Amino acid sequence: MKLDVNVLRYLSKDDFRVLTAVEMGQKNHELVPLELIDSISGLKHGGAFKSIKTLMRHKLLHHDGKHYDGYRLTYMGYDFLAIRALVSRGHISGVGRQIGVGKESDIFEVTNDDGEVFALKLHRLGRTSFRAVKSKRDYLGRRQNFSWLYLSRLAALKEFAFMKALYEHGFPVPQAIDNNRHAVLMGLVHARPMVQIRTMAHPARVYLSCMELISRLAAKGLIHCDFNEFNLLISEEEELTLIDFPQMVSITHANAEELFSRDVECIVRFFSKKIGYVPELDPSLPYVRPSYADAAAAAAAEAAAEGGGGGLDVALEASGFQRQHQKVLEEYLEAAVEAEGESSEGEEDDEEEEEEAEGEEGAAEEGTSGRWRGGEGRGGEVGEAEGDGEGLEEGEEG
Ligand code: ADP
Ligand code: MG
Repeated sequence: MKLDVNVLRYLSKDDFRVLTAVEMGQKNHELVPLELIDSISGLKHGGAFKSIKTLMRHKLLHHDGKHYDGYRLTYMGYDFLAIRALVSRGHISGVGRQIGVGKESDIFEVTNDDGEVFALKLHRLGRTSFRAVKSKRDYLGRRQNFSWLYLSRLAALKEFAFMKALYEHGFPVPQAIDNNRHAVLMGLVHARPMVQIRTMAHPARVYLSCMELISRLAAKGLIHCDFNEFNLLISEEEELTLIDFPQMVSITHANAEELFSRDVECIVRFFSKKIGYVPELDPSLPYVRPSYADAAAAAAAEAAAEGGGGGLDVALEASGFQRQHQKVLEEYLEAAVEAEGESSEGEEDDEEEEEEAEGEEGAAEEGTSGRWRGGEGRGGEVGEAEGDGEGLEEGEEG
C-alpha cells in the first residue's frame, strides 16, 4: 500500500479531531453515526461534517450505508493517527519508502529531525485472513466484535514489549523505540531477510547461531514460533537479527514442545534444502539440534537462579501486555493459521483490501517521501492524536 504522508500537511487540527472521534466511536460501534462523531468531536457549526468530507476525500474514512449509515477508519486513517502521535512525540518527522510487506504488516523507512533512519512497522491483522477467520465458528463465538484495529493494536503492543525486553537482554533484535496504536518504531537493520540468500561463507556457523538463538530464547522462557528464514535478517558479515514477535509464546505454553521443535525444524529444512548445508551430515557440529528437554531445563534453572519466575515471559506481563491479551491474540493467530490452510490464495478479498485499492487511486508515486511536523501542543483533549489510542478494552467492534 502507499502511504502518502503529504496528506498530513493538508489536514487541520479539526480534521484530526474528527478522525480521533471516529476512532473513539469505533470502540462500541462498527460504523460510527454522524451524530456521534459530531458530539464526540465537539466541533461547532457543522465542523465535523466538513472534516468528514476532507477525510473521505483523502481515503482516511470509509462511509458505509449497508446496515445503517456511518463511518469507520481505513487502514490509512489509523496509520495517520499513529504517525501523527509519533511525530508529536518528536520521534519521527518523515515517512519514506516501504521496505517490507509482511503477511499482516507494512514496513516503512522513517526519519527523525536529525536525519536518522528507522523502521516503522504498521500491523494489519486481518488483512489476509480476517474474513476467513470470521467465518470460523469457534472464533466467531465470543469474539465476533473484535476489530482489526483492536487486534493490530494488541499485536503492536506485544511486539514492542518483547522487542524491548529482548534488546535489553542483549538479544540480536532491532532496538525498540516507540509504540503507538498499531505502530512499532524500531531500529533499521542493514541486512537482508535470510530467505533471499542461497550461498553462505560459513553455513555451519550461521546454522549454530540460529540454534543458539532458539536455545537462548528458551532459556529466558520464550519460543518465537515463527523462527524461520523470513524473520531472520542476515548482514554481509553473516550476523543475524531476529524480527517479528507477535506470535511468541511462553515456554510454559501447552504446546511448547511442538512449537519449539517446529522452529528448529524450519531452520534445519532451510539450510538443508536452500543453502545445501545438511546439518546431519556435518561431523564437525557439536550438536545438530537443541532438545526441548534441555531448553526447558535451562529455563527452569534460569528462573530458579533469579528467585523464581525470572523468565522474560513473566517479566513481560508487567509491560501492560497481559495474559488476557495474549489469549485473544493467540486465538486469532491460531484461527488465522487454520483458516489460511483451508482457503485458497485467491480468496483474500477482504473489504479492507478493496478499500486500500481504492485508496491508491490518485495517491503519490511510490517512494515519495513526505515531511511533516506536528506543530501542535499536547493538549491531551479529545481529538488529539497524541494518545495511544486508549487502553486495551475488550469488545471493540469494527
Ligand atoms: P510480518 O509480521 O508481516 O512478517 P516482519 O516484521 O517480519 O513483518 O517484517 C517484514 C519484512 O520487513 C522483513 O522481512 C524485512 O524485510 C523488513 N523489516 C522488518 N523490520 C525491519 C527492520 N527493523 N529493519 C530492516 N528491515 C525490516
Ligand atoms: Mg515476518
